[in-house]
Amino acid sequence: MSEYINEIEKLIHLLTYLPGVGPKNAERIAFFLANTSKDFKEDFISTLSSLSKNVRKCEICHNFSNDKICKLCSSTERDNSILCVVEKPQDLLAVEKSGAFRGRYYVLHKLLSPVDNILPDDIDVNGLINAIKRFGVKEVILALKSSVEGEATSILLFETLKSLKVKITKLATGLPKGGELEFVDEKTIYEAILGRKNFEN
Ligand SMILES: [Zn+2]
Repeated sequence: MSEYINEIEKLIHLLTYLPGVGPKNAERIAFFLANTSKDFKEDFISTLSSLSKNVRKCEICHNFSNDKICKLCSSTERDNSILCVVEKPQDLLAVEKSGAFRGRYYVLHKLLSPVDNILPDDIDVNGLINAIKRFGVKEVILALKSSVEGEATSILLFETLKSLKVKITKLATGLPKGGELEFVDEKTIYEAILGRKNFEN
């Protein structure tokens, strides 16, 4: 028999699915939530419920959006000739904040990682090709982290996009090895985008 009451046991179990949360931290958060005010709990529940009902992935770029097509994709003020591929929505925000880029985006949400069973078929390259065609993109910047997974994914995209006759570039070196784009400062991202280089496999 478990030493926890049902609700707390279930909550601990769910929390262990969160990134960076191990069993001990899951227990800490579960007891914190159990102990917090009713108002906080209600607010937490309604925020999560609204997230579940109202937040979806944009049909074009796959960034999170309240609408079928997100604000960035529906904006007429963006540069259609250039598209930046990022791993995560947080990376998109980091690039956007750098101010170095006013084009279109595409969010992969995952990187190639055979050890985690993320294989080439799991990367939505067709969605990227559709976005490139839709906007008439001339240059694709592969803004993925410089890890084994990031580099393998960049090569996969490069090989797949070769036939499209678009220029393919990657960020300039200077980003920390293996570093998550979302944690890199704006100035470094700005310089990495401005100093981007042709992608060569
Ligand atoms: Zn979009």
